[in-house]
Formats: sequence, C-alpha cells, structure tokens
Amino acid sequence: MAFSYFFSNPYVIIHELCHIRIHNHSPSFYKLLETIIPDWQTRKNYLNTRIELRSVGSNKR
Ligand SMILES: [Zn+2]
Repeated sequence: MAFSYFFSNPYVIIHELCHIRIHNHSPSFYKLLETIIPDWQTRKNYLNTRIELRSVGSNKR
C-alpha cells in the first residue's frame, strides 16, 4: 500500500532523485528541489497527513 503511494506522489520520487546529487538536507538540497517542484512544500504537507515519510528516509537528518 505504502509502496504504490510512494510512486503516486511526484514529490517523493523527485526528493529521492535529488539525493543522488545532494546526499543531505542542506539548503542547497531544498534549492534544487524547488527548481524542479516549486510547490514541494504543499506536496510534502499533504503527504505527511497521509503517511510517515520516515519509512522512505525523507525526514532523516
Ligand atoms: Zn531526504
């Protein structure tokens, strides 16, 4: 279930793709993210109401 949800949300996919270039959550990471999906924060907030992102490593620091 969480697996299909993972692929249905572009934010999660792009977030992970950005980690190929930048391996942390530094400001430059979010800058890169923003150039691809300017509304990433909206998508992330939506996701957080549905699923814990920790399972895909998106909230780890
Ligand atoms: Zn991440």
